[in-house]
Amino acid sequence: MTKVFNFCAGPAMIPEPVLKKAQSELLDWNGLGTSVMEVSHRGAPFKALAIQAELDLRELMNIPDNYHVLFMHGGGRAQFAAVVNNFLGNGGKALYLNSGIWSRIAEDEAKRLTSDVQIDSIDIVNKVNGCSQVELPDFDEIDGDYRYLHYCPNETVDGIEIFDDIDCPWPVIADMSSNILSREMDVSKFAVIYAGAQKNIGPSGLSIAIVRDDMLKLPFLPQATIYDYRAQVKDESMYNTPPTFAWYLAAEVFKWLKSIGGVKAIEKHNRDKAALLYDAIDTVNGFYNDVHANNRSLMNVTFKLNDDSQSDEFIKKSEAENLVALKGHRFVGGMRASIYNAMPKAGVEKLVSFLKTFYTHDT
Ligand SMILES: *Cc1c(COP(=O)(O)O)cnc(C)c1O
Repeated sequence: MTKVFNFCAGPAMIPEPVLKKAQSELLDWNGLGTSVMEVSHRGAPFKALAIQAELDLRELMNIPDNYHVLFMHGGGRAQFAAVVNNFLGNGGKALYLNSGIWSRIAEDEAKRLTSDVQIDSIDIVNKVNGCSQVELPDFDEIDGDYRYLHYCPNETVDGIEIFDDIDCPWPVIADMSSNILSREMDVSKFAVIYAGAQKNIGPSGLSIAIVRDDMLKLPFLPQATIYDYRAQVKDESMYNTPPTFAWYLAAEVFKWLKSIGGVKAIEKHNRDKAALLYDAIDTVNGFYNDVHANNRSLMNVTFKLNDDSQSDEFIKKSEAENLVALKGHRFVGGMRASIYNAMPKAGVEKLVSFLKTFYTHDT
């Protein structure tokens, strides 16, 4: 078997120890003589798994007691709709910050769900000297009775991350699909955090929603019960059959993250990896990244070749070196190296040496 370093933006790498453990207990989970996929989600063994997964996530993210932790279906995009349906009943208004492709898709989804709500938005990325830079507005000067402000702290496609807190008078909802658990964050600054699982948590299909209790008092819209936070709170994320295998793998990823020192340790690791890669992009001739230093994503490192006509060659040669999935998103072109928690430093080091030799080793 050829081992590759997989830079895919999502579904992304899952830590190898987790996959090995899953493999070892695939046919016999918990001594039950069956796989975890084949047992009732309402039975005691799965319930114990579910409770432990929640406890581990609470510990990893330091989630206060007045927040619910939900394990839901439908990935990140299901939550685009869920937040609207759960909080914008009776003609609610919301403010969306626009920083790239994902925040724009979230806004479009909010607008298409019902004409009864008012969705305002502000573009917060400006080009300054050719670099994309986030400039947050002065929220005190914005007049609006918003039920929430929605933003995406890490734009997976654009490679733009927002490190500053959003200090505004409204509850803040964050789509953390691609940077949850990547660095320390103060959960108490958010009303809702949600994430599709397939970047930093586990397999696709699962979404995690962390919802502050007082948000559940807001008027809601009629909606499918599986996306209703109140119903999911009441039924402990088991209103219907949850994605049990994804939940199991997520639980194993949480254990793995705890075993290597938790979010504080992985943040250091992530900052080291990102610094190494951006430094190479900035210093090796022939490559560039046009995101301002303050907003360069730790998870999704975008870059371009000065001579775009060499991009296909770059992809071909990198794949031959077992560095896979470096092609940028089809909307923006160029390259993208997604270096989530599970990407070892060795993968980034190998990519850096590839960058250094790409132009010199012509065959
Ligand atoms: C991947 C991603 C999504 C979409 O996730 P799905 O699970 O495919 O719905 C949403 N937001 C962000 C920031 C993402 O990176």
